[in-house]
Amino acid sequence: MARKKALIDAAIDRADQEKGLLLVLTGNGKGKSSSAFGMAARAVGHGMKVGVAQFIKGRTDTGEEAFFRRCPEIEWHVLGEGFTWDTQDRERDIAKAREGWEVARRMLSDASFNLVILDELTYTMNYGYLDSDRVMADIAARPHGQHVVVTGRAASDALIAAADTVTEMADVKHAWRAGIKAQPGIDL
Ligand code: ATP
Ligand code: MG
Repeated sequence: MARKKALIDAAIDRADQEKGLLLVLTGNGKGKSSSAFGMAARAVGHGMKVGVAQFIKGRTDTGEEAFFRRCPEIEWHVLGEGFTWDTQDRERDIAKAREGWEVARRMLSDASFNLVILDELTYTMNYGYLDSDRVMADIAARPHGQHVVVTGRAASDALIAAADTVTEMADVKHAWRAGIKAQPGIDL
């Protein structure tokens, strides 16, 4: 145990670098967006400024949005209109995603944002709504100390390669499959 503690202490001493991180929260299990918004709460607690860009989903009735809209430290943008199988209009989805990316890019080029959350961004890249190289270049060009969190299923190899921390949520069980509808406070 003493030897293990010495090794861990040495590793903690070595972890002395500071930089803006890129985190990716992916996988089919529940917990990606709620983890990202948990980090938003942490950041606000430290007096940091946070930007949120929600892609794909058009809903503006989520608990986290209602809560964080009360915080002057957070700028919150809902940029989607729903999934493509709802809108059935790929051209419109593409236009909406590109418009949304301009909003995200503004936050990614503004050093006053300490944390930028790009919620459900993976879909816009995987469906080809946004050019992956361009998205990766804009993320890479952000201010040195700025943290970025990307959420969404099936994160691309490019995102995973560029990220500092990647977590894959595993879908072990979900209440929805037992016929339980989305619950306020838990699912939205
Ligand atoms: P959350 O917002 O709860 O952290 P998430 O961001 O990981 O979830 P999304 O794919 O964005 O997951 O879907 C959000 C909604 O879908 C939530 O209501 C969530 O409970 C539900 N959901 C997430 N994963 C699953 C799943 N594997 N099966 C059924 N519903 C799911
Ligand atoms: Mg989500």
